This record gives sequence, C-alpha cells and structure tokens, in this order.
Amino acid sequence: MKTTLFRQHGGPEVLEYTDFPTPEPEPGEALVRLKAAALNRMDVMVRNGWPGLKLELPHINGADGAGEVISINASLLRSGEGSGVRAGDHVVINANLGCGECEFCLNRQDNLCRNWHLLGETVRGTYAEYVALPLRQLYKLPADFDFHHASAAALVYQTAWHSMVKRGGVKAGETVAIVGAGGGVNSASIQIGKYLGARVVVIGSKAEKLKLAESLGADILIDRSKMEDWSRAVYLATDKRGVDVIVDNVGTTFPLSLRALRKGGRLLTVGNSGGPKFEIDNRFVFAKHLSIIGSTMSTLADFDEVMDLVIAGKLRPVMDRTFPLKEAAAAQERLWHGENFGKITLDIP
Ligand SMILES: [Zn+2]
Repeated sequence: MKTTLFRQHGGPEVLEYTDFPTPEPEPGEALVRLKAAALNRMDVMVRNGWPGLKLELPHINGADGAGEVISINASLLRSGEGSGVRAGDHVVINANLGCGECEFCLNRQDNLCRNWHLLGETVRGTYAEYVALPLRQLYKLPADFDFHHASAAALVYQTAWHSMVKRGGVKAGETVAIVGAGGGVNSASIQIGKYLGARVVVIGSKAEKLKLAESLGADILIDRSKMEDWSRAVYLATDKRGVDVIVDNVGTTFPLSLRALRKGGRLLTVGNSGGPKFEIDNRFVFAKHLSIIGSTMSTLADFDEVMDLVIAGKLRPVMDRTFPLKEAAAAQERLWHGENFGKITLDIP
C-alpha cells in the first residue's frame, strides 16, 4: 500500500511517501480502505518523538481517518457482535483504542483502559491507504457523507464532548469560557457549548480567529492581546460573577482561568498546548470551591453520540485545507505553525 511514514524521529524531512505492506486484519478486525485522514498536533509531536516514547519503526502517523470497509475477519466473532458494519460500508474511525477486556473496558469506560493506545501514537495510523482495526472502532457513515468532514470531526468532537458533557456536566443557561479561539478542540467546544444552550465566552489573541469563533456562535469575544489580565475582562463580562465553566487546554493559563471562574466553578482540561508544567495558587482552588477536571478522548458510546450529531449537521467541523497524502510534510508544517483555520486533511488516492 501507499503510505507516508517515518523511519526515524525528526523534522518534516523524515516523512517519506513510499510502499509498505498492507495490514492483515486479525480476528474481529476490519480492513478499511482510507479515503481521508485528518491531522492533529499530536502527529507532529509523535514524529518529533519524546523521551520514553516507544514505538515500532517505521511508524505511520494519524489518529483520524474515514473510508470504506474492504473485508472483515469474522473468525472468533460471536453472533451479533460487530453486526452493524459490513464490507462495503463507509466508516469513520474512533482512534481511542481500549483493550475490550479490562475492568474499565468491560464497564464501558474504555478511555480509562489499563492497556490503552491511541491510533497513530503508539500504533500505526491513518496516513496510509489501509488500516486494520477492531470492528468496535468503526462508526458507520451514511453513503453520501463526506469522508474529509467525518475524519476531521472524529477526534476533536469526541474529546470536547466527553469533557464538556460527561465530565464537566455543562448545562443550558450556564456560561462557558474557552481559552483559545483556534484549534480543533476549541472550535468543537464552542459549537458544543452553544448546542447545550450555554452562553460562550472566547478568549483569543488573533482577530481572524476571534471572527471564526463568532461565526461558530460565540457570544462574547475577548481579545487578550489588548490587555494584561484577561481574567478581569471575563469577570466584568459576567457582571463580576465569573463563569461557571472554563475550558483550558493551554495549561500555562490555569492561574488566570482559576481567577475567571465563579465560586464552585469547574475548570475542564484535555491538553496543554502551552506546556505541561506551571504553577497555580492553591488558595483559589479551596477558597473558591473550584474543581479541576481532566479528561482524554471519550468512550465508545460517547463517540457514537457525538458522531450522530455531526452526521445530523448539528455540529460541523471547520475545514481548512486538503493536501495529497504524499504532501503530508507540508500539511504538518501548516498545522504546527498555526497557519490553519480549522482541520487540515489528507486526500488518500
Ligand atoms: Zn481495557
């Protein structure tokens, strides 16, 4: 099969468009012919590598993908299992790989799996013509649904949905602030906040990205490039009450986020684009009764829930540009340097 892989960690120059053996589906797995893959910042981090990252080289990037089921290895499948997906079906992939057997997977909390993997991180991913995955990782798409939209939605919407709905319990009438106007998870969070009936405040630093946030339904825009302490602007915008929930996937902004919350408020986090280590003032946490709530990816059931809303058009991924698979390096550069507005996808011929 054709793929863009890397044989050693490094910059975009290590990506190579080449031939690689097509994977063989194990019992209970489907072979999917991919038509589209979507990029995430994680792809570049995996390509660069980090101390302790263990993966079998050559490695193939990519958590998100959509395509057509070519065949199913049905041996060992119990009757009824995986019956929702057949050869010829169009599918989008759920990259959250639980083992299916541990106490958490059996309790339908597969994103807490004891042997958890993320497709494209420690397992070869979707920058390829084919991928083989357990049937439970596949969501069946309507035949006319665009593969690029589906692949662009999968990871970011499941992540934002699990964090805001299942972990954060965001309710209609609440005010939710989102730190950062760009990025796939933040765009998804704005839409999910509006879908849930919340008032959405977006804190950003680039006029174009704030404009995009507004077009997605954000009610209040705060341009942090024009002020020293944006938490004060959030405070004033809520009649000196503070917001109920703040979505902070930057990390280094936690001190300001804790200030911007009302008493009893919740800080939701699924990442740390500003780096993993920073200081917070613990007095804000106990004296204001705050909760800091972490989350990663989603469960299989949450994935189905949020993809149903994407298919119904109630949540729409913001699309940037599409590159051919062989130009994955240029696509990653565009993403890494923040030149995109929305999701970048790869077209797989
Ligand atoms: Zn498990």
